[in-house]
Amino acid sequence: MLGMNPIDGPHTLSEDFKVNSIWRTIQGEGPWSGLPAIFVRFSGCCLRCTWCDTSFETGTWRNLPMLADEIHSLVRSTGHRRVVFTGGEPMLWPLGELITMLHDSVEAQIETAGTVWPEGLDRVFERANVSIVCSPKTPKVHPKIIHYADAWKYIIRVGCVDPQDGLPIGSTQRGVDNPTQKLYRADTSPNKIFVQPCDEDDPRKNAANLQEAVLSSLRFGYRLSLQIHKIAGVP
Ligand code: SF4
Repeated sequence: MLGMNPIDGPHTLSEDFKVNSIWRTIQGEGPWSGLPAIFVRFSGCCLRCTWCDTSFETGTWRNLPMLADEIHSLVRSTGHRRVVFTGGEPMLWPLGELITMLHDSVEAQIETAGTVWPEGLDRVFERANVSIVCSPKTPKVHPKIIHYADAWKYIIRVGCVDPQDGLPIGSTQRGVDNPTQKLYRADTSPNKIFVQPCDEDDPRKNAANLQEAVLSSLRFGYRLSLQIHKIAGVP
């Protein structure tokens, strides 16, 4: 976390899945905010954001049937069909095969920074209930993400917002200093864009980031996203 993680690359099915944690919680961000869901956090990320608030490096390995069984059993025991795949970067893992195996027993949501696309994921959109929320951390995102993303989430930090559109400027990546760089801008309706104050683990900075996100929402019509799982005190 905090941009200190090793850079990870795409994995194939032959390597199985390295999973950091699986748990039931309330989705606190984006279009499913407030809804109970099963979260699957994969290990590893291909980016290094300086303010990353997630520990994702550690994990244990599961093969495809083991992981699908574990998710199925949690869906059955909790009654929650929504499954959120997050990370790290979940797109580093063969999600197409996993979601195909889960098939219509779940509604899947993938949270991604949008720089990679796993082979075979296109096929699941024909038969599974799956949505993508992209939170850009780079100036470009993968063309498939642009095609398939249902919602876009931008992390807002005071002093790093373009007054022309209320969205982030400046690099998020450790070791890259470019204060005028724009992160990828989604060409979509403002109500599919979520602006979320950055949690910098500092009450004064967080209050300023919140104010900036509120202003962005009021000026440009974006949705305010407040990480309500943290407000509710659930993991
Ligand atoms: S893309 Fe997300 S998980 Fe990866 S380093 Fe950035 S904030 Fe952390």
